[in-house]
Amino acid sequence: MEHKYEIPLLYDRHNHVGFYAALTNCLDVRHDKDYDNVIKTIKKLPNKMNLVMGWTFLDYNNEDIESLPPVLICDQMLHSFIINKKGKEILIKENAAFVENVDNSEWIEKKLPSILTLIPRIQGITEQDMVEFFYKLEENGIYSTDDMLAIDNEYVALVKNGKFANRCRLWADHETYNNLSPENKKKIAGIKIFLDGALGPETAATRGYVSGKNGLLLYSDDELQQVLTFISNERLPVAIHSVGERGIEQLLNILESSSLPIPYIRVEHAMFITEDIARRCKKANIILSMQPNFSFDSLLFKGKLTDEHLEQNNPFRMLIDKVGYAPGEDMFFSSDGMPYGVKAALESSLFPPFSGQILTLDEMVKGYCIEDKSKGTIQFNIENNKFCDLMVQISIG
Ligand SMILES: [Zn+2]
Repeated sequence: MEHKYEIPLLYDRHNHVGFYAALTNCLDVRHDKDYDNVIKTIKKLPNKMNLVMGWTFLDYNNEDIESLPPVLICDQMLHSFIINKKGKEILIKENAAFVENVDNSEWIEKKLPSILTLIPRIQGITEQDMVEFFYKLEENGIYSTDDMLAIDNEYVALVKNGKFANRCRLWADHETYNNLSPENKKKIAGIKIFLDGALGPETAATRGYVSGKNGLLLYSDDELQQVLTFISNERLPVAIHSVGERGIEQLLNILESSSLPIPYIRVEHAMFITEDIARRCKKANIILSMQPNFSFDSLLFKGKLTDEHLEQNNPFRMLIDKVGYAPGEDMFFSSDGMPYGVKAALESSLFPPFSGQILTLDEMVKGYCIEDKSKGTIQFNIENNKFCDLMVQISIG
């Protein structure tokens, strides 16, 4: 049985536009799963500082890394980094602390926003890079987006004076926000904070690791209370990165006991949210900002997470059917850029690894698309429960 569908273009509410725009010209090895081949490819890079994106290998040989030209390798989740000696000699001038602590996952998590804003600065970012990247987003069915980490004053000006100003909302981490000019502060949609890390380095604060670890909370309760008070005083929305359930619990404990007036609270990722925590979130008017493409982490992290936990990742059915979260109202979907685009969005929404992760097409459209089809459409078929024949029609004036 074949069914034809047409949906509006996407609003990708969690992406890293400046970061990816700066890095469009660097080597991305995400799709090459052959370790020897990837090493061979990196070896061919020129003898200057190189950036490599999308590294997927948990194990690697140090001799191989040292045999490469100067390189900073970013893993596909952007939470762990490898720099060889030749690379360190160059980067030490830019950011000595990063070079010294590159293997210290706790330090990396605590300083992640400063690393994610440093990397595009190493590479440099032009107006042309931004325009090309936005065309790339369009080709992939994305009309508008939120960039969760504005890089610096120059970047805010670049975006907000640029062609796509109205289609790119900017968030800034606490430190970057404080360094912005008063004029640029007004152009920021809200503040982004990180409560935990990521699954790869086992710093996401969840109880489901096979190793028995339970991840890393980046703030003490007192520190988090202070940051939230600052955000409340600035009267700004806040987007809160918490992959694991422990970070959301910490947030709820503070919100429930302090009743801080914050106009809009969005939790990013929430991959391991439990039913009990979800009910508390709903009561606190917390918006859930989740990534259907992360459902495939249930396959990627086999062996690292318990079987039970793999199945509990991205529990969309529980959130919608049992707790009453409503896509498009208090639940939104996005990609975090890993990967971005309608193909991954549809595949992971409609055909994820576990049944508890399935979104209906209607739910996906409500939580992931812009309101109407006047800007363009995405057309595709579903045949024998498989998604195919994707076409993106853009009619953006
Ligand atoms: Zn992100």
